[in-house]
Amino acid sequence: MSKAASHVDIAENVARIRDRIAKAAERAGRSAHDIGLVAVSKVVDTERVRQAVAAGITDIGENYVQEAAAKRPEVGGGPRWHMIGHLQRNKAGQAVQIFDMIQTVDTQRLAEAIGRRAQAAGRTMSVLLQVNTSGEESKSGAAPADVERLLDGVGPLPGLQVEGLMTIGRWDPDPESARREFRLLAQLAKQLERHSGLATTRLSMGMSHDFEVAIEEGANLIRVGTGIFGPRPR
Ligand SMILES: *Cc1c(COP(=O)(O)O)cnc(C)c1O
Repeated sequence: MSKAASHVDIAENVARIRDRIAKAAERAGRSAHDIGLVAVSKVVDTERVRQAVAAGITDIGENYVQEAAAKRPEVGGGPRWHMIGHLQRNKAGQAVQIFDMIQTVDTQRLAEAIGRRAQAAGRTMSVLLQVNTSGEESKSGAAPADVERLLDGVGPLPGLQVEGLMTIGRWDPDPESARREFRLLAQLAKQLERHSGLATTRLSMGMSHDFEVAIEEGANLIRVGTGIFGPRPR
């Protein structure tokens, strides 16, 4: 652990984030209770993840199957674990064992692999469809125009349950520049509710630097890493 990281007061950071969530919710005329907070702990050691859980964190986000597999047993029971990184199909079986939700389903074949492995494990996996709202080539996610078709294909699959949509905003120091993408995701969700009766619409969007904008645009699940655990080493 780096010296800087060890001096980060995680409980204080969690309190500060909750305060910012409350203020953003109020501005948007929403209840802060409707906004879930996922603490993103990639490259963060187990001890600090435990501190976050002690500070009231109930949801943990990880980007890599292997890393989550190592940490989950060490952190212990309690929090729900979310897969928020790109998932390879050959890791679907392992992912189903470790995670409570997979937020990054963006192809029919990946969904089929998850459904098959979840069924074999006797469970139903909660998933979100990841949408590439910014159109950046570096990003995973289905194109906005393809999401309806993806949901039509994935929705009926056994072994998984589509609970909503996820997106990653364009990275820009100015959080306002992601507003358009967050708005697009919220619109897509409404469209899918009408079209396919998508039931519980989870909207996972917004990170440390842009979650307030995301909340104003309807996010009900935000993913915060550095805002809680401090800067990540490169
Ligand atoms: C790393 C990561 C986050 C958290 O990013 P911060 O800027 O540290 O809050 C959120 N979502 C995804 C998909 C990530 O990979």
